[in-house]
Amino acid sequence: MTRPRKRLVFNKYVLIITVIFAMYYIFEVYLYKVSKYNFNKLECVDGNKCLRILLVADPQLIGLQNEIIHPLTGLAIFDSDWYLLKTYNIAFDFVNPHVVIFLGDLFDEGSTATQKEFDTYKARFHGIYGHSTEFIKHVYLPGDNDIGGEGYDIVTKEKVIRFYNAFHQTNTFSIKMVNFYKYNILTRSFIEPIQDNESNKINVGLSHIPLLKKSGGYELEMLKSTKPHVIFSAHDHFASIIDMKHNGNDKNTLKIIPKENKIFRYPLSDLNTYEFIVPTVSYRMGTDKIGHGYAIIEGENISYTVLWSPVRFPTLIFYGVLLFITGFYSMIVVCKIYIKKRPRKHLLLPI
Ligand SMILES: [Zn+2]
Repeated sequence: MTRPRKRLVFNKYVLIITVIFAMYYIFEVYLYKVSKYNFNKLECVDGNKCLRILLVADPQLIGLQNEIIHPLTGLAIFDSDWYLLKTYNIAFDFVNPHVVIFLGDLFDEGSTATQKEFDTYKARFHGIYGHSTEFIKHVYLPGDNDIGGEGYDIVTKEKVIRFYNAFHQTNTFSIKMVNFYKYNILTRSFIEPIQDNESNKINVGLSHIPLLKKSGGYELEMLKSTKPHVIFSAHDHFASIIDMKHNGNDKNTLKIIPKENKIFRYPLSDLNTYEFIVPTVSYRMGTDKIGHGYAIIEGENISYTVLWSPVRFPTLIFYGVLLFITGFYSMIVVCKIYIKKRPRKHLLLPI
């Protein structure tokens, strides 16, 4: 008589395990796999003259000190790193870039980290994003979270040296027909223009902090000496494009949102500078508009789009609610078992 009941219990467990696996696949694999079907394709006419650029802004790998619920730091790091890795791999495979540019704030607590902590952050960073190869150049910029520069967290020589020792590179370089300049508003380092005889080169400026929003002395000096056609920057965590006429007075800002999911195409000339402010790739930055920047430069034209990533917080909230319900249900079951097993006191009948 007990067999059907046993089968029922067995079927219940099989159902629970199947649901768990199905949920894992949907929320941790499928959602990310299908996100690439929303990506805009940017086509090159001549592969040899085309430069594909993947832009990564503000990954801000979580540090070991500042999490609000400190006992959960390990779990928070695991989930955030896992998300960065998954979304980056999808964007990377889609773009097949010649160059990957990390636009600063690589670490959340880089500027305040001990050397030991900094080394663990660097190892995690390379575990997620890999290294430069012969065919794909990786470019790293420091942000205020890496070397200081915001509020009381000041820039020091030691922090700057530590960053450049970890991510050693020159401030100028050329790939194909493009000259790149790494500006640094935080240290105000002057960048010398690249001397070459080719007049048809495109100048691209790279900056952690947007350059065209304010026009201070350093910013104007860099614009004047390096004459960028294009600037890629980060720090804001939100996507936008600033189009500035070279007389400096005429400036337009265009906000980019996932709902519109557009390609932006501009001819490059000495008349305008376009600054593309790339959104954050991390879901921890207080926005659900998360993504990687993707640009191709071919001849005297640029095409740009954002490869939007899936949101993460609704999934984490769902997991939290599920965990709470499961915990509550388990507690009731345990209580029931305890009550059943408790020895009963028999009433003594009067003789
Ligand atoms: Zn920043």
